[in-house]
Amino acid sequence: MSAAPMMATSMMATACAGLTTPRAEQSCHEASLSLGPGDRLTDSHCHLLASSEGEFQACLLSYLKSPVAHFSLYSTTLDNAQRVAAALRALPPEAQARFSLGLGLHPWFLNSATFERELAGLIALYDELKRDQPQLLGPCWGEVGLDQKHPGCLPLNEQQALLNEFIAATQDRCGAYSLHCVGAQSALLAVLRSKQITGIVHGFSGKVAAALQLVARGLKLGLGPKVLRPEQEHKWRALLTAPELAGSWCLETDWDRGPYEGTLLARIAQRVDSLKAAR
Ligand SMILES: [Zn+2]
Repeated sequence: MSAAPMMATSMMATACAGLTTPRAEQSCHEASLSLGPGDRLTDSHCHLLASSEGEFQACLLSYLKSPVAHFSLYSTTLDNAQRVAAALRALPPEAQARFSLGLGLHPWFLNSATFERELAGLIALYDELKRDQPQLLGPCWGEVGLDQKHPGCLPLNEQQALLNEFIAATQDRCGAYSLHCVGAQSALLAVLRSKQITGIVHGFSGKVAAALQLVARGLKLGLGPKVLRPEQEHKWRALLTAPELAGSWCLETDWDRGPYEGTLLARIAQRVDSLKAAR
């Protein structure tokens, strides 16, 4: 990993730094998305999910063994947030410093019946971490957002209402969000309209025009494993070479499938560099 391409890493450094509220303001998460030592990479969006305690601990160990310098983990449910927070709090300081945690309710798991309880639980957890271990809080709330394609999601208007409620309840503590947006960009922009918030639309895979809309709104764009697919090379090259989008990208694995694949982020960074170079 120490040989990771500098172009991609410097891109991340400029892309994500703008999300960090100056520490002096003390109004937002303490952690930043800055790079690790040397040119080692930061994974700006990933998850720690497992079906059993044993698998959970094995997953955590796989993150620690990987060459990635820092992980911005995001929760999917209140239960996941509490579990990850407890695991991170139990780590020794040196290992703990490699993680930050964003608190959110993923649109795939939204449930109108439990939303209020989960939201209240996340805010309570945020306040507890802010008081006791603020360094563990990531730069954004999340993962939250809208999804019109995944089977079983709530109707879009209900998702919009819950996202509005989530933002209204949390933005005074931190006004940045890691946003999931699948087939719902217009609806997302409608939710964000007139709100004084920022964030990252993670896992972006749209076209240049869509990217420009989001960046004009002050959002960053997460670039994940989809860039590795051989198809759509022309689209990715157009995105990565558009001058208006320079400085808007954050690299991520969106890892959510058990033991962390330690080379994935470096492969994404290398692919980005080769796409940018092949102009
Ligand atoms: Zn995710």
